[in-house]
Amino acid sequence: MSQNPVPPADIATRLVHHDYVAPGGFSAPQPAVHKASTVLFPDVAALRARNWKDRGGYTYGLHGTPTTFTLEERLATLEGARHCLLAPSGLAAISTVALSLLRQGDEVLLPDNAYGPNLALVQEELAHWGISHQRFDPLDVEDLRSRLGERTRLVWLEAAGSVTMEFPDLVSQVRACRERGVLCALDNTWGAGLAFAPFDLLGDGSLGVDLSVHALTKYPSGGGDVLMGSITTRDEALHLRLKGTHMRLGVGVGANDVEAVLRSLPSMALRYRAHDRTARELARWLAAQPAVAQVLHPALPDSPGHAHWKALCGAAAGGEGAAAGLFSVVFDARHGRERVDAFCNRLQLFGIGYSWGGPMSLVVPYDLSGMRAGATSHLAGRTVVRLCIGLEDVEDLRADLQQALEHAFGAS
Ligand SMILES: *Cc1c(COP(=O)(O)O)cnc(C)c1O
Repeated sequence: MSQNPVPPADIATRLVHHDYVAPGGFSAPQPAVHKASTVLFPDVAALRARNWKDRGGYTYGLHGTPTTFTLEERLATLEGARHCLLAPSGLAAISTVALSLLRQGDEVLLPDNAYGPNLALVQEELAHWGISHQRFDPLDVEDLRSRLGERTRLVWLEAAGSVTMEFPDLVSQVRACRERGVLCALDNTWGAGLAFAPFDLLGDGSLGVDLSVHALTKYPSGGGDVLMGSITTRDEALHLRLKGTHMRLGVGVGANDVEAVLRSLPSMALRYRAHDRTARELARWLAAQPAVAQVLHPALPDSPGHAHWKALCGAAAGGEGAAAGLFSVVFDARHGRERVDAFCNRLQLFGIGYSWGGPMSLVVPYDLSGMRAGATSHLAGRTVVRLCIGLEDVEDLRADLQQALEHAFGAS
C-alpha cells in the first residue's frame, strides 16, 4: 500500500487503503480482539505456501485468528489437553464430534442420563444416516461393557449426568472403552476442567478420555450471555481429524463472543467455588425439608454415585471436593405436579429458564417419564426440579426457597 508506486487519490480508496499503522508494543492484560473473515498475505507465494493445519500462521478467519487461538490454548490448559477447537454452542461441539467420528453402520453409546439434545441428535439425525445407538446404565460398568460391540465407534460419558445427577465410575468406564479400543468422549461441562482432570483421571498420566466437550456457555462464559462450545484432545491425529470436519462443516465462532469468554475465564475457578459452596449448603438444607423426598447432588452421601464423586473429585479444593452449582430436588410422591409447579412459580430470585453457570439462579421442573430408557427409571413419573445456583447470597436464596416451599406445600 505505502509502497504502491501510484498512490490512490480518491477518498473512498484512501479510507480502505490507509497508510497509518499503529505503533507496535502495545500491551494490556486483556488480549486484543481480532476480527476477520479475510486474512491478508504479504504476497502470492505466502498465500500458496499457507497450510491451514499449521497454527504458526493464519489462513482465513474461520480457521483461526490470534483471538480464537488464545482462547483455544487457555481451554486446552484448563482441561489438561493439548488441542482445542471452538464451536458456536456446546451442542455444535457435540454434533461436530459425531459427524467427524461416525460413519454409516457405526454405533454410538450414550449414558441413560446423557444431555438430552445429544440423545435427540443421535435419535433424530444420526439414525437417518445409518448410525445406530444404545443407551447404557451410567452406574453399571458391566452394562456398558456388554454393549460395546463390533460396530461401536464412540462412547459418550457424562459426570455428573443430566438432571438426575448420577455420578458414574468414570475410571472404570474409560478403562472398558480402552480395553475394546473404542473412542470415549466426555461431556465435561459439569466438571468444567476444575472438578477433575479428564485426560488424567488417575493423576499419573496413565488413563484419560480421548476427547472432552465443554459447553463454554456455562461456567467459562459465566454471564448467561454467550453460546459457545469446545472440543479438546491430547492426541494430535484425533485433533486433526476433528479439525478437518470442523473446517469442512464451516463451524466457527464470533470474535466478540470469544472476547467475552476470555474476559470471564480468569474468574471461573473463583465463581465455580462460590456456586459450589452455596449449592451444597442449600442442597443439604433442602434435603431436610418435609416436602422433599431426595436431593440429587453428587456430594450428598445418599445421591447415586456419591462414592465415585468422592473418589474422583473429593480431593479438590483442599479436601472439600468440587461439585459445580447444580442439583435436583425430588418432591415427595404425594405432591403432584401442580404443587411442584406452584413452588417453581413462587420463587422470586430463581428465574425459570434453561442453562446454568451465570450469576442468576435458575429453576426448571423436569418430567422424567419418557426421558430415561431404564437405568434411572425409579424416578419415572416424578417431577424433578433442577436448581442451578447463581452468585446471590446464600441466605437470600434460602429464604426464597423457604417461602416458596411454604406457599406450595404448606407445613407438610
Ligand atoms: C448446556 C449443555 C450443553 C450444550 O451447550 P449449549 O451451548 O447450550 O449448546 C451440553 N452439555 C451439557 C452437559 C450442558 O449442560
